[in-house]
Amino acid sequence: MGVKNTITIKTDEELQILREAGKKLAAIINEVQCSLKTGMTTKDVDRITEDIIKGYQVIPAFKGYRGFPGCACVSVNEEVVHGIPSKRVLNEGDILSLDVGIIYKEYYSDTAVTLPIGQIDPQLNKLLEVTEKSLMLGIEEAVIDNHLSDISHAIQKYVESHNYTIVREFVGHGIGKNLHEDPEIPNFGQPHQGPVLKEGMVLAIEPMVNLGTWQTKILKDGWTVVTQDGKSSAHFEHCVAITKAGPEILTKL
Ligand code: MG
Repeated sequence: MGVKNTITIKTDEELQILREAGKKLAAIINEVQCSLKTGMTTKDVDRITEDIIKGYQVIPAFKGYRGFPGCACVSVNEEVVHGIPSKRVLNEGDILSLDVGIIYKEYYSDTAVTLPIGQIDPQLNKLLEVTEKSLMLGIEEAVIDNHLSDISHAIQKYVESHNYTIVREFVGHGIGKNLHEDPEIPNFGQPHQGPVLKEGMVLAIEPMVNLGTWQTKILKDGWTVVTQDGKSSAHFEHCVAITKAGPEILTKL
């Protein structure tokens, strides 16, 4: 974790590395996405992710991070985030949150997407759409001179207007030479609060949106976060640089 209240400002050289890292990660996620099939286990997904990461000659950031056993966090349906790769089988109609981090030239990149497995219920499709859109609306607020909570507020407002709920216990974060740097970025809150955003900040923004209650619990494995009511949850994440030209999404092709 970063030092409290210390938000690093990246130099142009650092930003260039983070840009390259983001592009590589976007390509990796895209390849993993293309190889997903009904009947795979989440462990299979992790193995595929590891192979693809190796192909890009970057380091899997999550493997071993505080003891996490996989390269990818693979969270199915009621699992919100931090799902451990396991024997759980992907069935038609499931949704899978795939969260992957890499290290490239000593800098971190982090992204997540929630994917449908085969045909999914229209209600789940809507959950995915709203969650991804809320991320985009949050990103639009990542501009110089806005306050950090303008991002948080935009996400919450949109999500709650669709009667879904925002997870409170897990939040976004700054990113750079460390996977988790200041600031913490909640996906809820009043606007115009917290630090003022400055050119060169890089933020990992990651709304987690639930169909039912916002409350979560951690399973006995010590990692997997699930919704308390067992209803489904979606999660999207991008790394975003704050630039003079506006928010720049680093983790896209
Ligand atoms: Mg993250």
